[in-house]
Amino acid sequence: MTTAGHSAYRGRFAPSPTGPLHLGSLLAALTSWLEARHAGGSWLLRMEDIDPPREQAGAADAILHCLQQHGLRWDEAVLWQSLRGAAYDGALSELDARGHLFACACSRQQQGPLGECVRGCHQQGCREGDWRDTTPPRPRALRVSVPPSFTTRWHDTWQGPQHWPLGATLGNFVVRRKDGLYAYQLAVVVDDAAQAITDVVRGADLLDSTPRQHLLQQLLGHPTPRYAHLPVLTDAGGQKLSKQNLAPAIDPNTPERNLRAALAALGQTPPPVTANTANAILAFALEHWAPAAVPAQPAVAGPASF
Ligand SMILES: [Zn+2]
Repeated sequence: MTTAGHSAYRGRFAPSPTGPLHLGSLLAALTSWLEARHAGGSWLLRMEDIDPPREQAGAADAILHCLQQHGLRWDEAVLWQSLRGAAYDGALSELDARGHLFACACSRQQQGPLGECVRGCHQQGCREGDWRDTTPPRPRALRVSVPPSFTTRWHDTWQGPQHWPLGATLGNFVVRRKDGLYAYQLAVVVDDAAQAITDVVRGADLLDSTPRQHLLQQLLGHPTPRYAHLPVLTDAGGQKLSKQNLAPAIDPNTPERNLRAALAALGQTPPPVTANTANAILAFALEHWAPAAVPAQPAVAGPASF
């Protein structure tokens, strides 16, 4: 069915199984699906299950079930980040071999404003066989040295022109945590490349991750996808809806109502009442998809309305 070539659109939805889907995450899933299908491309699913302490038992299966209930069907096999340790270690080895990595035992308080090590571990570098040591005297994070001059620019579909002087602002960042878990930034970059993703559609709460991902892509020799950061959904009071502030889970048994609420928040033409299944609503939404109609601050009336 697919005619994917090197330049064919490949998008993805990449939830973390820290809880069930809420309307904000449905918005991201739906938008990335619409963009991919509108472009005649593929839509892939990645489960970002690399942070077990934050995960909720059963959440991954609940998310997959919920997407299926909404008619959002993905192409290809689900990519589970929990099974990708070898690929992440390979990327760490490459970063190390190219001199971009250092092992660091400093606390945040011991670091300078740009993640410089005041104890000098940066200068010691990161030797092969050293950072792989599983029982160092102190737990160490692996961090990437950000060149002080590193700046990145891109044109974001919804956030407009972006200019981020990463080297002068954020500085060195963690790619493997002191507890041994891989950092989100590393896993995303490795997997976007592995899945040959051409277009990243996600919430604007991840906008400030993009410059770090750009740097890792450059350091690892991976292509940089296009980025579209969807404005973050708020309630009528202007508060962001997220798992952090306990946005209510959507009911997987009312997909038509949820999809209509999501399309309304996205400023799209309301599907007619005759569209009374999830698939019919999606077909209408795809036919009438208007990215330019997405408001700068999508809002829903309140949890009681969906
Ligand atoms: Zn340090």
